[in-house]
Amino acid sequence: MNGNTINDKCIFCKIISGEVPSKILYSDEISVAFLDAFPASKGHCLIVPRKHYPTLLDIPETELKALIAIVQKIGSAAMKAAKADGFNVLQNNFPAAGQAIPHLHFHIVPRFKDDGKKLHLGSLKGEEEELKKLESEIKRHL
Ligand SMILES: [Zn+2]
Repeated sequence: MNGNTINDKCIFCKIISGEVPSKILYSDEISVAFLDAFPASKGHCLIVPRKHYPTLLDIPETELKALIAIVQKIGSAAMKAAKADGFNVLQNNFPAAGQAIPHLHFHIVPRFKDDGKKLHLGSLKGEEEELKKLESEIKRHL
């Protein structure tokens, strides 16, 4: 399933087709944006490609560029609408990274000064040797 059409078991494909009702915010030939039914904060939105690409690794670059422009547009609108002080853009790939729905999606999570939410990034201390090895390995795969 690499984004050729829709997946009839996918909740996001059902939202895109209108089979499952949603609060659609924006729609064009590449992308659809809607409110998250289980918001992490006021104004939490999702932006998805119309086609069923499971992860970020599956979408063609031209469609990704169009999609990320909509992430920017929706991020700005959601922040203003929620009267938020900032927002996070989150995007998970594969279950190990917390991806619950296997249809590529970007989260816009509006944030508020002192809202107390914590992202647990940066909790590991990188060892110099390990970092050097990773630097080299990642470059090798580019
Ligand atoms: Zn889908």
